[in-house]
Amino acid sequence: MGRKPSILLVTTGGTFGMLPGGEGFLRSVLRAAPEARRIADLDVRSPFALDSSSLTPDHWVALARLIAAEMDRYDGFVVTHGTDTLAYTAAALSFMLEGLRKPVVLTGAQRPLAEIRNDARANLIDAVETATRAIPEVCVAFGGVVLRGNRCRKWSLSDYRAFTSPNFPPLGEVGADFALHKNRLLRPRRRFRLRPEIDPRVLHLKLAPGLCGSRLDGLDLSTVRGVVLEAFGAGNVPLDGAREIFPMTELTRRGVTVLVVSGSEHGRVDLERYAGGRAAARAAAVSGGDLTAECAVVKLMCALGRAKDARAVRRELHRDWAGETG
Ligand code: ASP
Repeated sequence: MGRKPSILLVTTGGTFGMLPGGEGFLRSVLRAAPEARRIADLDVRSPFALDSSSLTPDHWVALARLIAAEMDRYDGFVVTHGTDTLAYTAAALSFMLEGLRKPVVLTGAQRPLAEIRNDARANLIDAVETATRAIPEVCVAFGGVVLRGNRCRKWSLSDYRAFTSPNFPPLGEVGADFALHKNRLLRPRRRFRLRPEIDPRVLHLKLAPGLCGSRLDGLDLSTVRGVVLEAFGAGNVPLDGAREIFPMTELTRRGVTVLVVSGSEHGRVDLERYAGGRAAARAAAVSGGDLTAECAVVKLMCALGRAKDARAVRRELHRDWAGETG
């Protein structure tokens, strides 16, 4: 029999464990899910233990650095994480671990491991098994499905299938069998390298009827370098006749990059479809295509970290970095 795969389990907090970190975490996990050890040899690291609502881009960078530093020692990585901001962390890792050749699998739980009825145990087993497969990307194993990390969103506060991937089909289903859709996996072309550059000065604004320029007047946007604008439908932005209501031109002239995503769950932004979208495009707004809002926020932060000026940021945003769009 060949050697068991070696997996690094990285615990970050959230509902999943509500357990002590480090070796104590591993002991508790193995007590609740001893079969994890039959699947793989596990080591554990607990860089922090936080409710995921308190995580910042610095935590994403710390996680990416930790995984990159251990890349040669392990066959795969499992990150347990709070569900609230898991989609952001998954997107950040997918961009920071450029040219990834190994699985980095995020998971979490709606109910903690210590409760009698919980989803933490099954999610952990599924995540460990997923991390032993030939999956060269960051993914999320949760509620019996494996989703591309930068495509997923938290969908439910109570359903065990807490995440969806509105614009990309699942990479796999974990039921009686482990069904992996190999044709959907990324094929990394670049060599592996850590890309920790990030500029967090991004604001996420969601339009609502009546949220217009005058309401934004009191908002201090002077330190902002990027805005993710969650517009209506296909990227439609309100107009007053031909006049802009949202101060798009003013922002882009100041060098702020405005990335337009849709407030609708499924589909892609088409700035040419309606007058509001066309006006936004004329004002140099960038179409977010089929990016989720979470992924758009992270991608814009990373693009601002990587590129010097607005034109270079735009170029970066038009590229597909890790299967997040297309
Ligand atoms: N508030 C928790 C968190 O995101 C929720 C969870 O883990 O499900 O950390």
